[in-house]
Amino acid sequence: IVEIKDLTFSFSRKENPVINDFSFTMEKGEVVGILGQSGSGKSTLLRLISGLEMPLKGTIKIAGKTVVGDGIFIHPENREVGMVFQDYALFPHMTVKENILFGLTRLPRKGRKQRVDEMLELVQMESFAKRYPHELSGGQQQRVALARALAPKPNVLLMDEPFSNLDADLKESIREELGIILKKANMSCIIVTHDRKDVEAICDYSIVIGPSNQTNDFIQKKIHHV
Ligand code: ATP
Ligand code: MG
Repeated sequence: IVEIKDLTFSFSRKENPVINDFSFTMEKGEVVGILGQSGSGKSTLLRLISGLEMPLKGTIKIAGKTVVGDGIFIHPENREVGMVFQDYALFPHMTVKENILFGLTRLPRKGRKQRVDEMLELVQMESFAKRYPHELSGGQQQRVALARALAPKPNVLLMDEPFSNLDADLKESIREELGIILKKANMSCIIVTHDRKDVEAICDYSIVIGPSNQTNDFIQKKIHHV
């Protein structure tokens, strides 16, 4: 579902690339963890996939369609990629329902309401539809952010440290819920995390990325979980 080939990216011409010759392929329905030290380029990689940054070279295909490379650059809103940012980034002046509705402008009016209801049910937030983000707990906001990202039926869901603001107990329950939701939707998903436990709990496998200490190479190690 995602095919990345020889991707190289740098914030400035003078500096070493943050991402150097990175290649990676994932299949539909897979949940993949990305691990790596702080500053190793994990967030940058997600931003490249979603179209918020443009690579120096390389190609990215999503669902068989080239979104970057060969002279093509598809804008983020046309990539059919869902993104959940570290801080959830819900619109504070919109209710839960309005937040989820936001990405659905392309659906016919009638379908929108139905889709919002489906999403609210999926993340078990039906009774919170009219609340504003500040009236929700961290975990509830997290579920709304997830619902909003899933609502337009993206080809792939990208999550940047989705559990980092949660306490240990909430983290465990949200993580479990997320695993179930992703499998139910057969959603292809890339999750950036610092926590190996996240990966063990919900990922099919993970890759560790980052510059090697010895050389300028960009390393990429695949770890399998049972
Ligand atoms: P963390 O785990 O701390 O979130 P990360 O793996 O997500 O780290 P990135 O945010 O992708 O790391 O950053 C990779 C490198 O690029 C870092 O060295 C960072 O300082 C640098 N960087 C990030 N954003 C910019 C920017 N806008 N301009 C210049 N350099 C940047
Ligand atoms: Mg980051």
